[in-house]
Amino acid sequence: MKRREFLKKTGAGGLLAGSLITAAPAVHAGAKINWKMVTTWPKNFPGLGTGANNLARLITEMSGGRLRVKVYGAKELVPAFEVFDAVSRGTAEMGHGAAYYWKGKAPMAQFFAAVPFGMTAQEMNAWLYYGGGEKLWRDLYQRFNIIPAAAGNTGVQMGGWFNKEINSVADLKGLKMRIPGLGAEVLKRAGGTPVSLPGGEIYTSLQSGAIDATEWVGPYNDLAFGLYKAAKYYYYPGWHEPGSVLEALISKKAYADLPRDLQSIVMNACKIVNTDMLAEYTARNNTALHTLVSKHKVKLRPFPDDVLKKLAQLSEQVVQEVAAKDKAAQKIYQSFHSFREQAMAWHKISEQAFMRAREL
Ligand code: CA
Repeated sequence: MKRREFLKKTGAGGLLAGSLITAAPAVHAGAKINWKMVTTWPKNFPGLGTGANNLARLITEMSGGRLRVKVYGAKELVPAFEVFDAVSRGTAEMGHGAAYYWKGKAPMAQFFAAVPFGMTAQEMNAWLYYGGGEKLWRDLYQRFNIIPAAAGNTGVQMGGWFNKEINSVADLKGLKMRIPGLGAEVLKRAGGTPVSLPGGEIYTSLQSGAIDATEWVGPYNDLAFGLYKAAKYYYYPGWHEPGSVLEALISKKAYADLPRDLQSIVMNACKIVNTDMLAEYTARNNTALHTLVSKHKVKLRPFPDDVLKKLAQLSEQVVQEVAAKDKAAQKIYQSFHSFREQAMAWHKISEQAFMRAREL
């Protein structure tokens, strides 16, 4: 039926637009959905907390308010490290955090946040979206009734804050350091004592001497926490977190209850935030580094090559052991490992060769 004939027959005619608008609120009012998003970050923390806010705002705006997402900072609804359980149980429909925080539940989750000496942000996104990584991640979270999605990336992080120089591996011995994920196990094998702490507890622990050293993210975030006031040496590069993926956790049931268009909005909002956060970190780390060095007189130091080589050896051991646990773990490791090999071969003659050429 042609549109004009249809309008004539239904008697709507020129009034159609108006009557649809009048009718709309009744239909939409019933379809309004409210979601809670719990996060591992202090509320509104630059980059991470604001990234979660952006995700919630985008979903709310793109859906024209049909799906409203309210963000809760760490401890507002649940403590930072209970975010995964809260979404798994259905206490909250969404979460925002990083997958290595759930290593106690699923050790392989760490592969979807950061692998020491693993892949950069660009490479991680390539693996997740076009190398089969996202599918493996979803399969891993299946039994927890959670759908994961990449929703942010910090880029290469910094090596951390120390109150003494690290001139050899021996300087890591006995060092009590806050460090998450697989990097924690690597530090342990290098003789250190890794400590697991949510972001909000790092500064006071370092200040009080409860820990000797810490890593957090990079200049932008570390400046915001004032870590330079508690340690003077700032080491690079962040060998343990070369392109950390922030994750959105979505309740499988809550997602299944959404109409198709809202499902698409949720997933695409994650993708937007994933890209946006990396751009924000790249831009803001530059200026924050300048402030740390020129204003706060932070001493910037590279880890010596032999320290990095030793940490790389230990990392390979740790990664292989975690992956040897079962068949599913092996599958994730194989996928990650072969993608990394290919990405390295390509980046050697593209990104890496160009960055070298730029400095000649
Ligand atoms: Ca970190």
